[in-house]
Amino acid sequence: MAEWWFKRKVRKRVKRVVRRRGALGGPRKDYLRHKEAARALVHEKLHFFNQHYKLAWGSVAVRNQKSRWGSCSKAGNLNFNYRLALLPPHLQDYVVVHELCHLREFNHSAKFWRLVGETVPQYLLCKKELHQHSIAIAKK
Ligand SMILES: [Zn+2]
Repeated sequence: MAEWWFKRKVRKRVKRVVRRRGALGGPRKDYLRHKEAARALVHEKLHFFNQHYKLAWGSVAVRNQKSRWGSCSKAGNLNFNYRLALLPPHLQDYVVVHELCHLREFNHSAKFWRLVGETVPQYLLCKKELHQHSIAIAKK
């Protein structure tokens, strides 16, 4: 008799704690908001820089990736980290251009970096700066 009542009480308490911590409301909402922002800026920048490169890509996805800012598959599909929305614009440019250039050079050869440098001449600095942001994320 007392069991169902007790279970309900526990369930209610768990719900309250989850709500207070924002485990359901806060971060999830933030994630979706950042994801939308990232998707919009990725598309905008892809089209902008592709006026220069004139390459063709497959699908574009924005995901919650743990360790990468972006990736490019052999099939030409592009993936980006939703945290891109939180980076300064020049680093967003760099990440988008980096993946865009992989559509032509599927490696990190000198030829690849030359291609990146055509639109992001300061790519070495960006690379360094981005690494610091990656570390900051990993520590969270
Ligand atoms: Zn790369």
